[in-house]
Amino acid sequence: MAFVAVVCLSLVALDGWNSWNSRSEELRQMSTAASNLARAMAQQADDTIKEADTALVGVVERIEYDGTGPAAVERLRKVLASQVTELPQLDALHVYDKDGNWIVNSRHNAPENLNNADREYFVFHRTHAERGPHIGIPVKSRTTGRLLVPISRRIDQADGSFAGVALATIDIDFFMKFYDSLDIGEAGAVALVLENGTMMTRRPFSAGTVGRDMRDTDLFRAYTAQGPAGTAYIRSAQDGVTRLNSFRRVANYPLFVAAALSKDEILAVWWHDTLWHSAGVILLAGIVGFVGLRLVRQIELRTKTEAELRRARDALEKLNKTLNTLAMEDGLTGLANRRQFDATLDTEFSRALRDASTLALILIDVDCFKQYNDIYGHAAGDECLQSIGRTIAELTPRRPGDLAARYGGEELAVLLPETEVADAVELAERIRHAVRNLKIEHTGTEAGFVTLSAGVDTLSPVPGAGQAKELIRSADKALYVAKTAGRNRVCTNEDAGPDG
Ligand code: GH3
Ligand code: MG
Ligand code: MG
Repeated sequence: MAFVAVVCLSLVALDGWNSWNSRSEELRQMSTAASNLARAMAQQADDTIKEADTALVGVVERIEYDGTGPAAVERLRKVLASQVTELPQLDALHVYDKDGNWIVNSRHNAPENLNNADREYFVFHRTHAERGPHIGIPVKSRTTGRLLVPISRRIDQADGSFAGVALATIDIDFFMKFYDSLDIGEAGAVALVLENGTMMTRRPFSAGTVGRDMRDTDLFRAYTAQGPAGTAYIRSAQDGVTRLNSFRRVANYPLFVAAALSKDEILAVWWHDTLWHSAGVILLAGIVGFVGLRLVRQIELRTKTEAELRRARDALEKLNKTLNTLAMEDGLTGLANRRQFDATLDTEFSRALRDASTLALILIDVDCFKQYNDIYGHAAGDECLQSIGRTIAELTPRRPGDLAARYGGEELAVLLPETEVADAVELAERIRHAVRNLKIEHTGTEAGFVTLSAGVDTLSPVPGAGQAKELIRSADKALYVAKTAGRNRVCTNEDAGPDG
């Protein structure tokens, strides 16, 4: 029973373990996929900005070297225009003087807003002396209304004082085109974030999130905690979806990217498989359990039946043995009964015939037993017979074929194979003496005690003549001789005299 349960549970446990393993594998692959996405995004962001920034470096150098005279500006405008045509990510290139006034741009016409002194990047460069690139928070173009990422560099006077700003604007659409091409599933998300916590753009796109402060999000906290690259499971505050976020810093710029894949979406196929699989396994375990239990029950039943059969057989054998003994034994004296006596006489007669040996028989009759019963009662007579039986049994030799039996009533017999008359007479005498010496009171006899008379005879069978019965007859004759001669004696037919 326990075995069947163990088998079924093992089956379920093994499958559970398998499923859990494949789930872990699924998530591991998901993590790799997210990490690869983040790497590709970081690379793309780096390349995109680097190209724009390289253009800016050229512009800054040219202005610082050539100044902003009309000829220089015209030449610069051409250069800017060709840069913008060459670099698809570039929306435009602009140059502003130290007061934020427009000097030149990559377009043919002057912009509507001729002063950009209020823009974040302008303020930044005016107040910061460093000459590296600055990535500003996304702005909505005053000319086109599009969302733009401003990349800018400071222009210095020869003395190092602030001379203006060179600005490249990258259309956020350029990033979005790339992000839209990524396979992130229905519920996946990607984002490009400034290290100061400003959201540049994300997919799914919504204009409202561009430029939003991200510092209070789990994603931003995970990034600050884990450094340039890492992963984290984050439950979105917006849609409640738990996603595996893989984030990575953009190599050369203060930006990081995040690629997030929906855990539920990734595991959906796994769930589907596991559910079907588990149902199958549970069904299988059920069948195994059912069949197993039936089998166990049948085995138990069979074992029980076998044990019962064995017990019944043993009991029967015992009974048989008892019956056998009962059938061969005299109930009162415990000696062999008449039936056994007859059978043994026949076999011993045949043996004597085969071996040409002598078979002896002592027939014993209790003297005046009728009287004994009369005087002492039938029960006492039974007891007396039992004592005599015991005495005869003790004295009878124990060779194979020797047999003491109750011949009938108060007549007893001792069969002795391979025994001559003299030896049989001797044994008969010993029995007679022994019974006499029991000193069982019997006032009806001459001796005053219970005595026996015995007739002894032998037979040496010859083929074709004589029968076992003859031995009984002749021994009985000798017994009769003993009775008529006065009882309490052993006689043979020799004692009968010539007339016998
Ligand atoms: P005898 O000396 O001539 O043998 O005299 P007897 O009285 O023994 O004569 P007989 O052999 O004819 O009598 C046998 C008696 O033995 C008859 C019966 O009452 C008694 N007897 C036979 N079988 C049993 C027995 O199983 N139990 C008892 N108590 N008495 C028995
Ligand atoms: Mg008798
Ligand atoms: Mg008698």
